[in-house]
Amino acid sequence: MAAFVAGVGAEIDHPVGLGMRSKPIDKTPVLVESPLMHCRSFHFLLSSFCFFSTLGFTAADDSPEQWRKERRLIDLHQHVGSSEPLLKRAVSIMDRAGIGIGVNLSGGTVTHKEGQPSAFERNKALGDRLFPGRFAFYMNLDYAGWDDPGFSERAVRQVEEGHRLGAAGLKEWKRLGLYLRDKSGKLIRIDDSRLDPVWRRCGELGLPVSIHVADPRAFWLPFNSDNERWIELKDHRPWWFGDTEKYPPRMDLLNALDRVVARHPLTTFVCVHFANNSEDIDWVDAALDRNPNMMADLAARIPEIGRHTPKKVHRLFIKHQDRILFATDFMVYSRLTLGSGGSGPAPTDEDALGFYAKHWRWLETWDRQFEHMTPIQGDWKIDAIGLPPEVLRKIYFDNARKLLVRRLPLPRLRANRIEADFDLDGRLDDAPWPSAAPARIESQINTGAANPEIATTARVLWSDQFLYIGYRSPYTELTVFEPPLKTGERRGLWNKDVVEAFVGTDPYNSTHYTEYEVAPTGEKLDLNITPTDKSLEWNSGFKAVTHIDREQKIWTAEMRIPLKSLSPEQPGQKTVWRINFYRHDRAHRAFLGWSPTATGSAHTPAKFGHLTFGP
Ligand SMILES: [Zn+2]
Repeated sequence: MAAFVAGVGAEIDHPVGLGMRSKPIDKTPVLVESPLMHCRSFHFLLSSFCFFSTLGFTAADDSPEQWRKERRLIDLHQHVGSSEPLLKRAVSIMDRAGIGIGVNLSGGTVTHKEGQPSAFERNKALGDRLFPGRFAFYMNLDYAGWDDPGFSERAVRQVEEGHRLGAAGLKEWKRLGLYLRDKSGKLIRIDDSRLDPVWRRCGELGLPVSIHVADPRAFWLPFNSDNERWIELKDHRPWWFGDTEKYPPRMDLLNALDRVVARHPLTTFVCVHFANNSEDIDWVDAALDRNPNMMADLAARIPEIGRHTPKKVHRLFIKHQDRILFATDFMVYSRLTLGSGGSGPAPTDEDALGFYAKHWRWLETWDRQFEHMTPIQGDWKIDAIGLPPEVLRKIYFDNARKLLVRRLPLPRLRANRIEADFDLDGRLDDAPWPSAAPARIESQINTGAANPEIATTARVLWSDQFLYIGYRSPYTELTVFEPPLKTGERRGLWNKDVVEAFVGTDPYNSTHYTEYEVAPTGEKLDLNITPTDKSLEWNSGFKAVTHIDREQKIWTAEMRIPLKSLSPEQPGQKTVWRINFYRHDRAHRAFLGWSPTATGSAHTPAKFGHLTFGP
């Protein structure tokens, strides 16, 4: 059937009333320039940062300030100790900095005593219980028994166990090639063939490997006060590798990792600390060119990367914009560590916010010659690289969401309480809508790849009687069934453009949920799903009204679902339901989800996010 522009609401509409800046969608750059991009000064950045955290904030929908306000950023490289106070401190800093998800690379090993949970299980359980949705955990490998026969097989079983327990990836740190030794005292090589089955199994299971090898070049230079990293080195004697009797040359380590990455093309290696070679960005560029399965995180290396010619670094980041990941090496133990630490006074929470803010400054402005975020690394200044918003969002979260799609923490959304019900007009211009936080429906459900050009939102309200869901869907071309069915339901409505909500309210049975769909034409259907039945006959009594703004090329929809049809129990402040939002857009071949399922199917209730009921 030919694409067809639906004939609902033919009149030209006033702008959609969500207090967002409407913008043309097709061909023009996806992300509007934010005020930040024009006012490239750090003071502006800091003042806007304080502003949103205290007073509320209005900005273009797609700006770094807005992403931070919604805490969309992912820090792919953190180390957080496993206790309630430490997790609390980490989250309070993440909240204020605008970080939604911290990836804790120190998840621990899966080794455990009979009948007891492993360190990995304990860490993950605590984080998930105290702060659901805020942390992903990488597992670490236990090298016990390295010298015994069958180590590889046992190590593969560790990886499989970690995967089963919900590890988002595997982290290996610089102990390989520098510290870990076998029984005879020889260093365990990074490219030792006994580890190949581990890297291979990670690839098969879709677990990315974050790997740190070697260290800054200065750690191989003479250990004295002429060393440019002297302040850092003198507090960390074990970080000095200049003794050629004990340690291999630095490039040997980088080359060994390069061989491993090349040998395992189906495994994704996130080579941390800017591919472990921020001193030589030409090398990093060539390594990324050579190895399509390699990515680079920024953890603790902006002070080094920022010393290079900013235009050159900018070009490198533009070229590899899909392969670079925001990461800081933020550590929360008995003291904070901000990229690196020493014997000086312990950093405060305010210092941590300044540390994050300098990342924004370096990535987002063109500021010249300012003090970097980890002064102990050395006494020099850095130059910022002024990345455009469409690249920033990839580095801040899109690339990480895709990398972690199988193990993204489930998102949470709050439904806002309303006292009075209102009539639907499909326009989202009723007063309560803007107060509700948006669920961002941008990720392809199977791969997690972002589609910012048709970035869709859903907002949820609730009253005594109804659950309201409002969708805002930019489009370039609508594909719909014509004429729309006015009565009855069409199986396969989802084969053309629709927005959908899948709602699970049964805490004892996640495979029972209900599904609601509406097309731009206003045609709708609802389904009651159980493992054995997908009944079209079921009728929730839900209403849906749509509106098409042809000038802005945005279609909007309002759904109103009777609470009685969803659950026999009235939701309240403690209720948590499961929900996922989807959108089909044929013109973009897009099947987007709020919480990507990492399968081809929306019917993956284990991946539904959480809906809470706010005041
Ligand atoms: Zn680290």
